[in-house]
Amino acid sequence: MRLPKPENKRIVIIGAGFAGISLAKKLRKLPLQVVVVDKHNYHTFQPLLYQVSTGGLEPDSIAYPIRKILKRLRNFYFRLAEVTEIDSENNTLSTSIGEIEYDYLVIATGTKTNYFGNANIEKFALPMKTVPQALDIRSLVLQNFEKADNCSQIDERRALLNFSIIGAGPTGVELAGAFAELKKHVFPKDYRHLNIEEMEIHLFEGSNRVLPPMSKKASSKAQKFLEAFGVRIHLNTIVDTYDGTILKTKDAELYKTKNFIWTAGVTGAPVPGLSEETINNRGARYKVNRFNQVEGYNNIFALGDIAQMTTESYPSGHPQMAQPAIQQGELLAKNLERLENNKPMTPFQYKNKGNMATIGRNKAVVDLPNLEFGGFFAWFIWMFVHLMSLVGFRNRVIVFFNWVYNYINYDKAARLIVRPFKRNL
Ligand SMILES: Cc1cc2nc3c(=O)[nH]c(=O)nc-3n(C[C@H](O)[C@H](O)[C@H](O)COP(=O)(O)OP(=O)(O)OC[C@H]3O[C@@H](n4cnc5c(N)ncnc54)[C@H](O)[C@@H]3O)c2cc1C
Repeated sequence: MRLPKPENKRIVIIGAGFAGISLAKKLRKLPLQVVVVDKHNYHTFQPLLYQVSTGGLEPDSIAYPIRKILKRLRNFYFRLAEVTEIDSENNTLSTSIGEIEYDYLVIATGTKTNYFGNANIEKFALPMKTVPQALDIRSLVLQNFEKADNCSQIDERRALLNFSIIGAGPTGVELAGAFAELKKHVFPKDYRHLNIEEMEIHLFEGSNRVLPPMSKKASSKAQKFLEAFGVRIHLNTIVDTYDGTILKTKDAELYKTKNFIWTAGVTGAPVPGLSEETINNRGARYKVNRFNQVEGYNNIFALGDIAQMTTESYPSGHPQMAQPAIQQGELLAKNLERLENNKPMTPFQYKNKGNMATIGRNKAVVDLPNLEFGGFFAWFIWMFVHLMSLVGFRNRVIVFFNWVYNYINYDKAARLIVRPFKRNL
């Protein structure tokens, strides 16, 4: 890889998600050469991906160039590459564009979609972890509406207009709510010759409530909101197979759908190379100590979703959410400074700032450490927090403008099939 030899030490950060970026931004004062490697040249604000899938936002407004975010770092290099292997003996990484040496290595690779070993589901499902995947959903939804408008067979039309979302965590709930808004306010105007009642939104969940990571109060409020929007919720229902048209549950119920969206789980995205014992079997996360050092290594750290730090309050690791990733990244920057100055590092202590999900227009639920609430005020808080968390002033302005426009006009304007969806089978 074409990089100058560092005067001092080199830190390589794999992954410019919430964790990698929050660490890199705080490395300004350290005399380290900072190399960030990511397979995308942009940082993705994953919490708003569902709005890209449903035409509420353009993809550019939830992504931001990594080089631009980190332009203030003095000794910074970005490389667009996929890291394929870690050689911890020689402190070297193999990547899709060559090898790179490190003094400190930080793994912040996040998670990937978990299909729980179900090959058929993996083949036909639409996941939603990246911007291209969100665009695939947007295209497929619109393509299927176009086909339905021209389809005279009721059975086929109903399959084209059946939206089945698997997994009622925050992503599934937000997606279902957004589809319900499209059904109520947008599609009836676009497709005036279709009977919009033929559009069905199904939300399947294996456990006994929606939003399982949130409080029971939030779950029951969210369920009420969704049902009022016309979403059909199937609790205690495991989806067993899907062949591109027929969805079958473990209880042998059958549904015909051409829109099968999988938000049922994620698993860690570790990079091959470190000893097997460093990776937890459940969730494929690196076992780290309170300083985010990967078990057994002094100069290798893991942060965010890919790190499993067990504490008394979090015996199976911190929640795979933006806040733990950001907080761990910020602390590691301070700890690296301490390490460089031969001072003891500070253990990580998670500050839980709460959890929230929106269900659609004027409806959201918020769980704070000592308070739960839902409805309009929660929705307002949800919008404010997400707007302020976006990277880049431009993106905040664009998202704010889009939200105001959509709210006033009952619209979701980005209904474009720019890149038609084709299944790679
Ligand atoms: C649809 C969706 C909605 C969500 N909504 C919320 C929410 O509302 N609130 C909340 O708190 N959290 C939410 N989350 C979770 C949150 O986004 C994650 O917890 C957070 O992104 C974790 O940050 P991270 O830095 O660990 O990983 P990520 O942000 O996932 O970043 C990982 C980075 O690593 C890169 N990468 C991975 N492997 C390699 C490799 N081998 N080589 C090079 N680069 C690599 C990726 O391209 C990516 O840029 C949501 C997640 C999703 C998918």
